[in-house]
Amino acid sequence: MLQVYNTLSRSLEVFEPVNPGRVLIYVCGPTVYDFSHVGHARTYVAFDVIKRYLRLKGYDVFHVQNITDIDDKIINRAAEERRDWRDVVDEYSRDYLEALKKLRVFVDVHPRVTEHIGEIIEFIQKLIDKGHAYVAPSGSVYFDVDTYDDYGRLSGRLDKKMWSQEEFATEKKNPYDFALWKARKPGEPYWDSPWGPGRPGWHIECSVMSSRYLGKRFDIHGGGSDLIFPHHENERAQSESLFDERPWVKYWMHTGMLQVGGEKMSKSLKNIVPLKDLFKEYDPLVVRLWLASAHYRTVLSFSDDSLQQAQANLQRLRGAAQLVYRLTREVEPSGRLSDAELSVLAELSDIRKSFYESMDQDFNASSAFASAMRLASIIYSQIAAKPSYTTVLYAYKLLDEFNKVLGVMDDVLAELPKELVPVDELINLLVEVRSALRSQKNWELSDYIRARLNELGVILMDEKDKTRWIISPRPK
Ligand code: AMP
Ligand code: ZN
Repeated sequence: MLQVYNTLSRSLEVFEPVNPGRVLIYVCGPTVYDFSHVGHARTYVAFDVIKRYLRLKGYDVFHVQNITDIDDKIINRAAEERRDWRDVVDEYSRDYLEALKKLRVFVDVHPRVTEHIGEIIEFIQKLIDKGHAYVAPSGSVYFDVDTYDDYGRLSGRLDKKMWSQEEFATEKKNPYDFALWKARKPGEPYWDSPWGPGRPGWHIECSVMSSRYLGKRFDIHGGGSDLIFPHHENERAQSESLFDERPWVKYWMHTGMLQVGGEKMSKSLKNIVPLKDLFKEYDPLVVRLWLASAHYRTVLSFSDDSLQQAQANLQRLRGAAQLVYRLTREVEPSGRLSDAELSVLAELSDIRKSFYESMDQDFNASSAFASAMRLASIIYSQIAAKPSYTTVLYAYKLLDEFNKVLGVMDDVLAELPKELVPVDELINLLVEVRSALRSQKNWELSDYIRARLNELGVILMDEKDKTRWIISPRPK
């Protein structure tokens, strides 16, 4: 039974989607005014792991992750660099999408604010008509927080004094009201509206785009915990006020922040590590595994050590995957299972149970990952030592199942693509030649072949009467 921690209730709740069998997820994506950094990846990979696990459990999942392509930060960046704001958006949204692809995070739809201006205007108009929003003399429109009786519950800020919103404007009724529509300032991009030219405030986009793609009620609303206040508090106020649906979102889920030296990684603190730079040092799959093997709610620290550890883990897992894949081609079906095989099977089944139990406990990916590493150990030791049809196939199936969530072994577990087969055969040929050299006691040449292959990332493993090999990503 899957349990999920809901930020709104501050407790674990049994997961039951609004529509049985279907899970609708909305995650707040980036404001594209700079390169995507490791902190962003922390949140995107965390929700990707959650989504993949829900799919593994058989749910039909639809995942929306927006791109904020109009905002003060974008306008400021364009002004600083004397560029068109659309150029800024284009450069950094490309960078973001490229990073997601490398991290193997596949989102179903990436809606952009500027493609939804019509719906945003309609939404705001309805809020005005219902008495939840007001037009100020400047032509800006504000949400009247006093008209929503549940404000502050998500963030736990129940005292009105704690509600002050960043955007300060003296024309607001109350300091905690927030902008739905910002009247045009000279030189800024704008769209026409019933209240005059302007552009949307930040919070409205997520209420509008989530309802367009997921309907008026959906299951999971995610983002980093930095968004709980004011962004998610505001989204909630405007959506519940308009839709009269409570709860609008069934489970609010927030990731723990990625920190560097004890501080949140963020552009404003000038401590960001752009993903495009990190990918020059570490394979994106190393970064993915590091993030996918952490619990989504913990505060994570960025360090070289943790990435080195992830690199070693990735090599071990991928090595096990290649080994077990190769073994599936060697074993023949057998009849009676030995006691030793039965004991390996029992152990594998126990590992599977632990993996699911961990993930069912609020997606505890860190503990689930430990199960995957246990499986790798068994493959290297017990299964490789005495491969049998039943244990090899079961281990292969299990690793494939875990990989549906981890997403770091797709290429090694899948049937090797045709163009790779000759490479495979060439390696086999070298291994054969080396074995012949060894039987002639030509150690010098046989060691030379081993060392050269090693340099290329092909690791040979000599066993009693045969040599196996795996390809390991070359350290950079
Ligand atoms: P932003 O572009 O800053 O609005 O961030 C886009 C997404 O990444 C949001 O869901 C943020 O909560 C998340 N995010 C930004 N910085 C971090 C960080 N240091 N750690 C974890 N998540 C972050
Ligand atoms: Zn949002």
